[in-house]
Formats: sequence, structure tokens, C-alpha cells
Amino acid sequence: TPAAGLEGELLYVGAGGEADYADKDARGKIVLAELSYSPPRPEKTRIATANGAIGLILVNWGDDDNPSVPQGTVKPVWGNPTVDNLHLMPNLPAVGIPRLHGVPLRELCKQGTVRARIVSDADRLWKTLHQPHAHLGAGLGNHFLLLADHMDSWGGGATDNTSGNAVTLEVARVLADHKSELRRDIQVAFWQAHENGIMEGSTWFVDHYWDEIDQGQIGYINIDSPGMKHATRYEATLSPEFWTMHEEVMPAALGYVTAPKRLEKTGDQSFFGVGVPAISGRMEFSKELLERWHGAILGPWYQSVDDTMEVADKEVLAQDIRISTAYAWTLATRPVLPYDFRPNARILRETLAGYAKVADDTLGLAATIDLAKTFEQKAAAVYDRATALQRRFETGAAGGAQDDEAEAVNDAMRQISRTVIPVLGSVVGRYGQDTYGLSALKRWIPALAQVDQLAGKDPLSGDHQLWWGKLVRERNRVTDAVRTLNDLAAAIAE
Ligand SMILES: [Zn+2]
Repeated sequence: TPAAGLEGELLYVGAGGEADYADKDARGKIVLAELSYSPPRPEKTRIATANGAIGLILVNWGDDDNPSVPQGTVKPVWGNPTVDNLHLMPNLPAVGIPRLHGVPLRELCKQGTVRARIVSDADRLWKTLHQPHAHLGAGLGNHFLLLADHMDSWGGGATDNTSGNAVTLEVARVLADHKSELRRDIQVAFWQAHENGIMEGSTWFVDHYWDEIDQGQIGYINIDSPGMKHATRYEATLSPEFWTMHEEVMPAALGYVTAPKRLEKTGDQSFFGVGVPAISGRMEFSKELLERWHGAILGPWYQSVDDTMEVADKEVLAQDIRISTAYAWTLATRPVLPYDFRPNARILRETLAGYAKVADDTLGLAATIDLAKTFEQKAAAVYDRATALQRRFETGAAGGAQDDEAEAVNDAMRQISRTVIPVLGSVVGRYGQDTYGLSALKRWIPALAQVDQLAGKDPLSGDHQLWWGKLVRERNRVTDAVRTLNDLAAAIAE
């Protein structure tokens, strides 16, 4: 802002998502939004800017008297900007305020016109950052598992993310102690600029090592905010090919199982384009506590000076370590990779069928849906072949032809992931990054998320033409991918 600050009428926009602006005129106003992660801060900023707002005030979560000042980035460009997306860097001044102050402001807005003045001072600069990256060479081929977490923090940083650094180090230590039993290499990375840029470190890693990752990385375990005090139950978000593995591994590690949930492209999930299946989980709070804390999934202390050792819990952290080790062990040692593409195939077919219902007849998704149905059958056959092969190892077979067969099946399954993950979870595709928290990413096959824009429009109208031109290309991209999936699956199943 100018030194004297920026003044304007205040407009309360709830969570600050696209739907929250439907009946409001934000032009020339400062918007007041909840910190809630639906959508994340950078997407709130992108949406506020698109709606003509001149400033953004974010109200922290937690109890209504929570005095913590929330910090964090509002930058929608994922990773460093390039000449193509520099224009998406935020120009909107944004500040975070304690819930203690935000709730009265929100109430004032309900009573009449409120004017606000915000004063902020921000830097935008290029810096050299040092990002630790370690290799544990242990495996038979070029395949590796990546364990990572972000090492930068706002405020105290005890549970976000020093506790995550501790989990990664401990899992790596255990794997190193059992190096001779591993079938795959382990790589460990500590991301920079997760919180105070946005995902610069993991994006640099993907850009820099793209080919090595594409050819060899068989999984990614990202650890963020484990070991929080009052957390009682482990919840995991995973790529669909890991859902079956999760249901086997979690009961063995923790004695209970929670349903696997969809992994969205948030956090340091910079590997969706390359198509590396990933896991991100943590011990979470009860529903009752989250309700009281207005959705503070990372605690009322999140990204504030109150994130100290006081809010970390050793017993909770031990649970996070147990389950993370179990996932890593399974991925690093199982002769046949624990992938199951049946959930991916079902989601692909169901999502396309859902889109076909809300699009109009001009898009023509029938052939793509037919291909997806075929992939559903083939994914089942791939699972049967992989499971039978794994059984042979479990009943004593080892070495030689067994290993060669496992490597061939593993490699073909790796390629299926490379093809299906970018289609199911990203708009931009294999080489880039979507803007952070982009609303379309809430849906499966997000590149087709706007097919409903065609319905009810005259096919000869300009508006219809503009949408059709965009969506038909996305349809072609998806069709091409599903056809490739069928070829890859056929090679394993036959
Ligand atoms: Zn974090």
C-alpha cells in the first residue's frame, strides 16, 4: 500500500470462493474473508482480484477470541513465475488479522457501511535458497521413493513444519538401518519456500530433475504438520492407486483404518504433472474440535508465533512416524509395486459420465466413456496379474526371472500413473503447474470441469463457440490419455 495506507469500503465475502461473489459487487472495495482453506489463500486472492477488489483482509480461524495473527503467502503462481504467468503475481495488498478482531469487523459489516484502512509493506525479490537433498542408494534399478517435507515456516514453526522434518529424518534413519532389505533407492528432500513463496522448492526440483523423476520415481510421501497436540485420528489423502495399499498398511501400523481420501493438488504436490502417485497424511483433530475452531485443520496456532513446542505432542508424533514408516517400507521393499488402478479407472468412467450429463450434445463424450469402460476392465486384469506375481514372491520365489517379470510389470504400472494422474488431477498437464488452489482442481478431470458452460446456449452463438473450442481440445487430450492407458494396461494383462 502507499505509506498512508489504502482505504475503502469493507465487504464480507465469507470463505472468498467463486460462489461467495455471486450476489456481491466487490469493485473498488476491500474484501474481508475467512482464512478457511476452501479455497486456499492464493485462490482467494486470485478471485478477489478478478472481482475488482482493491484489498484483502483475512480473518484467522480458531476460537472467536483467538489472538494469533495469521501469516502466509497469497501468491497464486505455483513455483517461481515465468514470462507466461508473471501477470498472475498478486498486486492486491493483503493482510491477516486475529479472529479476536475479525469477528467484530464481520459483525459491523452486517450493520451497515464500514470503511477500512490497511497498511502493508511487502517485498518481492529473487533469492538463492539452499535445499537439502539426500540419496540412499539401495535399490536394484533406477526406481526410487521420495520422502520430503517443507523446512521453511512462518511464526514458531514447531508443528509446521519442524515436526515434519523430524518424521522424515526418523523414517529415513529406519530405512537406512535396513538398507540391505530395500529394493528401491530412497531420496530425501527438505523443500524451501513452501510457505513464504509458494512451492518454489518442490517446483524447482520437478523442473530440474523432470526426466529422472519421470523415469524412476515410484512414489512421493510428503510430510506436513504431524504431531499436533489434541490430534486423535490419522487421516490420509492418497493418489487412488495407493488406496488399496493404505487399507492394508494402516491397520497393521496403527490398529485401525480410516477411509482413504482424495489427494488434491495442494501443498508441495508439485508432482501431479509428471504423474507420480503420492501420499500426504497426518494425525487430525476430532469433528467437534474442528467445529469449535471454525475449521482450523492445522490448529488455531497455525502459521503464527504461537506454533511452539507447547502445541506439539510426542505421543501423537509417534503415530505419524509409525504410519509414515509403514508406507515407506511397503513402497521401498515390496517386489511388485502396491499399485491398484481399479479406483482410478472407476473415477475416470464415473466422472466422464457425470460430465456428459451436464454438457450438451455438441461435445460428444460417448467414445471417451467407452474407452474408460474398457480401461476399467483392463485395470482389474492388471491388478490380478500384479497380485498373483506378488503372491509368488510371498510364497518363496525370488531372483532371476521373477525379478525381471516384477521389474517389467512395475515399469508398465509406472507409465500408467504417468498418464492417469495428470488427467485426473491437473488442468495444465505434464510439464507445468496450475495456479495454487485453482477452484477447478476440486473436481476430478478438472480440465473438463466447466463442461456445463455449453448447456442451454445456442450452438451458433459466440459464447458457445468460445467454450466449445476450449473444451473440445480438453476432450481430445483426455481421450488420447485413456487410449494410451488401455494400451499400457493391455501390455501388462496379456
Ligand atoms: Zn506446512
